[in-house]
Amino acid sequence: MDLALLERTLHERGEPAFRARQVWEWTARGAPGYAAMTNLPLPLRDELAAAVPFSTLSVETEREARDGTVKTLFRTGDGHPVEAVLMRYRDGRRSLCLSSQSGCPLTCTFCATGTMAFGRNLSASEILVQALHFRRLTEVDHAVFMGMGEPMLNLDEVLAAARRLPDLGITHRRTTISTVGWLPGLRRFVDEVDEPIRLALSLHAPDDGLRSRIMPVNERYPIADVVAECLRHAQTTRRRVFVEYVMLAGVNDAPEQARALAALLGRDHFKVNLIPYNPTGLYEGSSRDRIAAFRHELERARVPVTVRLTRGRDIEAACGQLAAAPKPHRHTAVPAG
Ligand code: SAH
Repeated sequence: MDLALLERTLHERGEPAFRARQVWEWTARGAPGYAAMTNLPLPLRDELAAAVPFSTLSVETEREARDGTVKTLFRTGDGHPVEAVLMRYRDGRRSLCLSSQSGCPLTCTFCATGTMAFGRNLSASEILVQALHFRRLTEVDHAVFMGMGEPMLNLDEVLAAARRLPDLGITHRRTTISTVGWLPGLRRFVDEVDEPIRLALSLHAPDDGLRSRIMPVNERYPIADVVAECLRHAQTTRRRVFVEYVMLAGVNDAPEQARALAALLGRDHFKVNLIPYNPTGLYEGSSRDRIAAFRHELERARVPVTVRLTRGRDIEAACGQLAAAPKPHRHTAVPAG
């Protein structure tokens, strides 16, 4: 919901200030609509339902993968597609993957979102509504800004949404903002964000030549500058920055590239997350053995490293596969939330 509009509407009606908080508390705890907010006078509930849309996004389709991952395609009021994903892990973790933009203006060659048309930045409300949608299905405890879009191109709205997530049960320490290394936003993030929100860098290559080939944004903001900024963040916060590295066969997965990566990052301030490539067309994913060998090189250099669990691949909900449902699929009718 648009919280600014909510506050304005309540104020205009001469309602006491605590009303906005009541409405938000219900919403953040997963209430399905104003009707459920039983400590609000009935006429007020009806008026709010008419004046402040409960959701700023409508649900278009929703699909569930065999592993329990849920991918939802939303539409903004002006018709832009937005996807978000709920990941359920065996250990009970419930993690949300949220979008910051409809589409993405960057053109990383391995990512499906980069191939669709860029729509626009999402508002804080449109970002938060993705999380609220899943909160109505289940309790949630982690969030990653790893859906569509580049969060550092829309930092104010992303932060405004992230700052509300604790009310849904997602602490800042369990919130991660991921970036390609868009320096203007990244600098502001490092300088201005006091909350212990995690930072992740999509690096994917240990040298500028290769990184520029697979991620054109690197021409603008080269590795040394971006890594230096992340290092500054790690040093000031004393928390490691996550480095994402998608494993592309014969492109960035050689043992010497692992050694170059280890030399670039060092052992103290980063943690590498190797991501099995989810097919989007152009590349082949590295084999398990190749990933294991790459991991081994990093471990030998004492760089902390994990391999990401792939979730939701059968419904194109996995990393890099969010592109607003290009393929026909079964549509499940879900009431707009
Ligand atoms: N634009 C931000 C936020 C999106 S995060 C960023 O890039 O960091 C999405 C993550 O999934 C990034 O690390 C991205 O590089 C990775 N990714 C993109 N395409 C992928 C693919 N086909 N397979 C696996 N990971 C992919």
